[in-house]
Amino acid sequence: MRILVDLTKCQGYAQCAFLAPEVFTIQGDEALTYNPHPDSTQLTRIRRAAAACPVQAIRLDQLDGRDRSLHRDAAPSTAAPVEDSGGTFKKTGRIVIVGASMAGLRAAERLREEGFTGSLTLVGEEPHEPYDRPPLSKQVLAGSAPREDTSLPRHRDISATWRLGVAATGLDLAAKQLHLADGSRIGFDKVLIATGLRARPWPNAAEAALTGVLTLRTREDAATLRQHLARHPRRVLVIGAGFIGCEVASVCRELGLNVTVAEAGPAPLVAALGEVIGAAAGALQVEKGVDLRCGVRVLSLEGNATGQLRRAVLSDGTTLDVDVAVAALGAVRNVEWLADSGLACGVWGVACDAGCRAFDANGLVTDDVFVAGDIARAPQPMYGYQYLAVEHWGNAVSQAEVAAHNMVSPETERWPHLEVPKFWSVQFGTEIKSVGVPSVADEVAVVQGSVDTGRFLAVYGYKGRLVAAVAFNHNKWLDFYEPLIEQAAPFPPSFHHIDEPAHARPVPAGFKPAASPTQDATVVVTGHDPNERRARLTNGAADRTPSRSPTETSPLSKEPSP
Ligand SMILES: Cc1cc2nc3c(=O)[nH]c(=O)nc-3n(C[C@H](O)[C@H](O)[C@H](O)COP(=O)(O)OP(=O)(O)OC[C@H]3O[C@@H](n4cnc5c(N)ncnc54)[C@H](O)[C@@H]3O)c2cc1C
Ligand code: SF4
Repeated sequence: MRILVDLTKCQGYAQCAFLAPEVFTIQGDEALTYNPHPDSTQLTRIRRAAAACPVQAIRLDQLDGRDRSLHRDAAPSTAAPVEDSGGTFKKTGRIVIVGASMAGLRAAERLREEGFTGSLTLVGEEPHEPYDRPPLSKQVLAGSAPREDTSLPRHRDISATWRLGVAATGLDLAAKQLHLADGSRIGFDKVLIATGLRARPWPNAAEAALTGVLTLRTREDAATLRQHLARHPRRVLVIGAGFIGCEVASVCRELGLNVTVAEAGPAPLVAALGEVIGAAAGALQVEKGVDLRCGVRVLSLEGNATGQLRRAVLSDGTTLDVDVAVAALGAVRNVEWLADSGLACGVWGVACDAGCRAFDANGLVTDDVFVAGDIARAPQPMYGYQYLAVEHWGNAVSQAEVAAHNMVSPETERWPHLEVPKFWSVQFGTEIKSVGVPSVADEVAVVQGSVDTGRFLAVYGYKGRLVAAVAFNHNKWLDFYEPLIEQAAPFPPSFHHIDEPAHARPVPAGFKPAASPTQDATVVVTGHDPNERRARLTNGAADRTPSRSPTETSPLSKEPSP
């Protein structure tokens, strides 16, 4: 049996832990962890827990006990695409989804829920059916769930053709064909791009090849790292204190391992939460025994004669004896396969409108190409129409649903994706949750609880307007702030709060200024006549990794708009 808890909704009420204690556990004050693949003897208890959950966050696989075989396309279609003719597309059209993960699967389910009865193909480079990534840096690393148990539950049968273990290599929009690495082609009427991200490798290839130098993005990565941790290394070095780096460090301490975190910035989570709240995350790490070194870079990694990592040289002048180094340097967007597609894609992702329709390189919106999940860069009307890439689970789900709806809806019935971004993280027994976009803020104020007790809520403001709220073990209040963010409520809030600290004054939030739009120019404009003027992606817009130094990208990255 497979289950999934929508942790963006969960408020830690613990009804589930009370009703099915062998499946759900509350860690620390309010962080829920659960077994994603519990024994079927637990079914009745889980059903009771799902019914009792006040926010209806628990989902059960609807395909349990039914055929869940993944049909391979025996003869990939190369036929000429069918023209969309109004309602007939919904009945007989052809949709291809590229990227078979959270966004891809959710879009497929939603298409069927919307009544799409045409042909649906999911193409995924990984050989697995879609799985959930958040447990990889939590339950799987800690050893409480094997990697196989992370397969995503299904809301419904999607009757799709699955092409797994084969990458898409090109998108021919004129011929409406997707090219695959095995040489086959698939014709489509509409396509959804959901190819997400991959881990940014350690930049020195020889050092990255040492045994013990690892990254974390896939199931295989998690299983390999788990194996290394289970061998009780002398010390683990985590390079980069973004969410994944911090969660890895947290599991290391849970397992009783020595761990050093080297972060080039002034505090952990600084790109996502700013320096002030990042310092609170840093205090947690130090309290739990992490050797946290901020403002420090790893200069080199050294191995022994057999190619096993042995040492790391740091910019603070020290050398560490380490057996494992986890490069948690953020992610690279999987856009290379789109290099010749004519779409607006690059290191920033694939640009699309608020209705998930991709832009071409000229900035013109396309009709039949949609984008969702970590790869998408879309304007956020709530944040001054800034283009943001939101690399979080909740966004992959909600954006996929909007994209799927729009793919089968007439122009006048399309939806904008206006979901307020949310994320959660569990580290060092603390649940960190957020609504809104903290990284656009200039000020922050702790308005409930206190940083000293490790239980607080901070609100973020930009030019006198509320833009985000972040809770450390105080997440029940976030639902209150979400509509205030949507309504652009004044910052600092003028009302009094429960559990208000004596000094709730705003202070500078401590974000680095966003890169200037010209810093990573990737487009040139050519032609003089209005008929001829075209934007052209410069060489490597899609295949070049960013020129920035290797620090973790912000989960709500603020790289320049295309
Ligand atoms: C370890 C880890 C922990 C996380 N924890 C949290 C958390 O606690 N909270 C939170 O909010 N978010 C978390 N996230 C983020 C969350 O998992 C992502 O936002 C989510 O997975 C995005 O889904 P996606 O479908 O857009 O992209 P992805 O999950 O990246 O999937 C993209 C898929 O496309 C495939 N693909 C790539 N290129 C091609 C190609 N050319 N052809 C075919 N297929 C291709 C890839 O192999 C991949 O399977 C975590 C992520 C990781 C890695
Ligand atoms: S909100 Fe629902 S899923 Fe979360 S702890 Fe409570 S009962 Fe469990």
